Amino acid sequence: MADISPSTVADLKHLAGEKAVVDGTDAAPLLTEWRGRWKGKAPLVLAPGSADEVAAIMAFCHANRVPVVPQGGNTGLVGGQVPQGDVLLSTTRLSAIRDVDPEGFTLSAEAGVPLQTLQETAAAHGRLFPLSIGSEGSCRLGGILSTNAGGVHVIRYGNMRDLVLGIEVVLPDGRLWSGMNRLRKNNTGYDLKHLFIGGEGTLGIVTAAVLRLFPQPVDRATAFLALPSPAAAVDLLSFAQERSGGALSAFELMTDRTVDLILHHFPDLPRPLDTTAPAYVLLEFEAGRKGELTTLVHSLLSDALERSWIIDGTVAQNTRQAEGLWSLRHRASEAMKKDPSFCVKCDISVPIRAVPPFLEAADRAVDQAVPGARVIAFGHMGDGNIHYDILGPEGGDDKVWRARAGEIEHLVHDVVAAHEGSISAEHGIGLLKREELPTRKPDTEIDLMRTIKAALDPHGLMNPGKLL
Ligand SMILES: Cc1cc2nc3c(=O)[nH]c(=O)nc-3n(C[C@H](O)[C@H](O)[C@H](O)COP(=O)(O)OP(=O)(O)OC[C@H]3O[C@@H](n4cnc5c(N)ncnc54)[C@H](O)[C@@H]3O)c2cc1C
Repeated sequence: MADISPSTVADLKHLAGEKAVVDGTDAAPLLTEWRGRWKGKAPLVLAPGSADEVAAIMAFCHANRVPVVPQGGNTGLVGGQVPQGDVLLSTTRLSAIRDVDPEGFTLSAEAGVPLQTLQETAAAHGRLFPLSIGSEGSCRLGGILSTNAGGVHVIRYGNMRDLVLGIEVVLPDGRLWSGMNRLRKNNTGYDLKHLFIGGEGTLGIVTAAVLRLFPQPVDRATAFLALPSPAAAVDLLSFAQERSGGALSAFELMTDRTVDLILHHFPDLPRPLDTTAPAYVLLEFEAGRKGELTTLVHSLLSDALERSWIIDGTVAQNTRQAEGLWSLRHRASEAMKKDPSFCVKCDISVPIRAVPPFLEAADRAVDQAVPGARVIAFGHMGDGNIHYDILGPEGGDDKVWRARAGEIEHLVHDVVAAHEGSISAEHGIGLLKREELPTRKPDTEIDLMRTIKAALDPHGLMNPGKLL
């Protein structure tokens, strides 16, 4: 826990200026993680209005050994954005779109711009910024970059690491590094931006970035399919990719229990199919020309039916129906939150082929440990990324279940390791998995990470206690 003297706080407040100080009821929601899992505290919350102001604050903090936690939209799921007695630096006022270049397919924006605004700005210029996640109305550029966010379109466009050309960062000692590169090709040594993408705010404060844009698709086809097993999803996925020539833009798996839980907590949502099945897939294709997708989707689905990879399906006839199918998928996290049971959340990835055996082995292990525990498995199957969440037995003692959360998570992660997977596919490490990380990575890799951290942040002032 940081020990920052009242006079240091007063000096920093004075330096930052009245406009940058957030207090009272405005500060309170920034100190707590949105689900209430982590409650933080900070002697001071600042929201500077420019990269130069961030640089001045960081230079002061470096000189006075004041720890700083950067925060964007506060939607992170691993506690990385929650201060533990450190100064909280919110990026909400770094809100400018600096440049849109439709011909060069780039967009430059400041760290506090919400993801939805990035998408809308690109669309207003006839371009696509493809990252799409459930929190897109609230999460901000600096946050999605620092957590290397993924989401539903990674299969076609990649995650944030693939969508960033350049960045601007204030280093822990207050120096401003402008690496706002727009070039697609730039082989001039170490590509330093990748240290900060996925760096969870432990190496510096991202103040702006140059993003890659894409042509706007003019046609979309969305289908919801019932499958005899998750194993059939592996065959269907590879077939859909092959047949569509790269037009597949989303491939989301949901188990029957996931769909049932969502419909239970959101009874107004229509059940997309009358057929019940062990697994469902929501898939989407995009095309640059009208009329190509209807034939493609119907021939693909009839072939998949013939090969017994699907047992039933429905194709959205219009945008409203497509949105209805997506709203089912997007309600998964909220449905879990509405459930009275504590939820053990495992955001894991394994090689695509290993998804079905992983699910089988993990289900078995969980059931042996806690008979009656309810596994809610869903996610971005196209990237081998499954949100393997577990609710306690129905009507069970939630205190007892909650007390076993760490043990259950560990048990699932052992199954992940046995299938050569990762214990964090897209949410990061933060506070949640910090203790476990060194046990899951080679010592050499952890050593290298610590060496980089010590070189950039020798006093350990950037987001202390997170990630490493
Ligand atoms: C409903 C819901 C659905 C989600 N779905 C997905 C999904 O499909 N895929 C996915 O990948 N994630 C998903 N997420 C989690 C996702 O990680 C966050 O939503 C988002 O990426 C974090 O952005 P933020 O602006 O809220 O960052 P915050 O939560 O504020 O911060 C996250 C981390 O980044 C650091 N940080 C923030 N801004 C900066 C900055 N400017 N410079 C340096 N460090 C910074 C913080 O210190 C912290 O460690 C979901 C979250 C929710 C609530």
